[in-house]
Amino acid sequence: MSSSIKIPRGTQDLMPGQVEKWQYVENKIRDICARYNYDEIRTPLFEQVELFLRGVGETTDVVQKEIYRLETKGEEKLALRPEGTAGVVRSFIEKKLYGAANQPQKLFYIGPMYRYERPQAGRFRQFHQFGVEVIGATDPAVDAEVISLAMRIYQAFGLTGLSVEINSVGTIEDRKSHRAALLDVLNPVREELCEDCRSRIDRNPLRVLDCKNNKCQTLTKDAPSILEHLSDESKEHFSTVLSYLEGLGIPYNVNPRLVRGLDYYTRTAFEIKMAEIGAVETLCGGGRYNGLVAELGGEDSPGIGFAFGVERLLLALEKQNIEIPVATGIDCYVAIQTPDAKGQAFVLVDQLRQAGISAEMDYLDRKMKAQFKAADRLEAKFTVVIGESELANNTVVLKEMATGEQQEVPATELAGLLSSKLS
Ligand code: AMP
Repeated sequence: MSSSIKIPRGTQDLMPGQVEKWQYVENKIRDICARYNYDEIRTPLFEQVELFLRGVGETTDVVQKEIYRLETKGEEKLALRPEGTAGVVRSFIEKKLYGAANQPQKLFYIGPMYRYERPQAGRFRQFHQFGVEVIGATDPAVDAEVISLAMRIYQAFGLTGLSVEINSVGTIEDRKSHRAALLDVLNPVREELCEDCRSRIDRNPLRVLDCKNNKCQTLTKDAPSILEHLSDESKEHFSTVLSYLEGLGIPYNVNPRLVRGLDYYTRTAFEIKMAEIGAVETLCGGGRYNGLVAELGGEDSPGIGFAFGVERLLLALEKQNIEIPVATGIDCYVAIQTPDAKGQAFVLVDQLRQAGISAEMDYLDRKMKAQFKAADRLEAKFTVVIGESELANNTVVLKEMATGEQQEVPATELAGLLSSKLS
């Protein structure tokens, strides 16, 4: 290739060796979801841009700065999905799942998301999220189940030192009463706040509390807490969620400044953090979104969910020196001693594969020594050699690599013999 076309910034090639780790992680997540009775849903990687404007919120960083809009020949204005909830909720409405007998709907997804962000360690432009959505129940037990599911998954991988930060951002009504009190504190210091916060004051002042900038945090340290403006119902909901978490032995930290970047949260908002992960703040974020289904044109239905980054989970495992078990190696390498045996080897490899045995042979007409090296590289448990006399007798020489044990067996019996030795 004369021109040097490179991988786009903020994306990664997952190479053989790494992919197996991803598969392990995904399989484990799928297994745990099954135990919790969550079903997988796969929605398109792109959607009408309007879905994200309404579903994520026009005032959010994700929509304001990070969305990848697609240029297409058609009339539709499309964008790559920056997160999974909006697509799942769109699908829930379109498929009329609120009519389904099995309520609440408990769904999960794993797949790539796209955000035009400044790439850094643990932050990519194409990244992968695993997420769940439970739609159709307001029960605080569901909030606690969703939070505990995320925690139990991390724990199943062996991660320790995780903390759940939790808050209630109230209902839209609760936030109205808080807003006035908040603006009394924010307006006098408006000019000293960072540029993002200055625009947040008008759009969604609650988000100023969540700003990571030290100066903004100091300037707003006396800001009124949303928790003091919750209605009795919201308070009750919050304290019930907390008591369920206590019942499961899941430690949490109430953080009244936790707001989350997306606009649609109501009541419970939470994040899961790991101390050692450093520059990368959170592993997982989620919350309740009781207004979202109606906002997107569906029958009013409450919902709650979370999303976590798969890259960040892998990073966290690496930080805690947790090895992901990856199966390597093949069962059998078929070496060809004489060119005449190639056709026989080709058939044999096919028979082994059909019998459920992983098998490989030489395609480069290599000498025996090089073929044995290839077998070593592939970590073959057995090698089979077909030379002239074996070809004449329709046999093969089978060698078990671990023991060095060797035997001549009829070619037709090889698959059966290997199957029993491997089981
Ligand atoms: P959010 O959808 O912004 O609430 O993010 C939920 C989780 O997704 C975060 O806690 C991260 O684990 C992960 N995540 C979000 N943005 C990125 C990104 N740009 N690169 C990698 N992971 C991300």
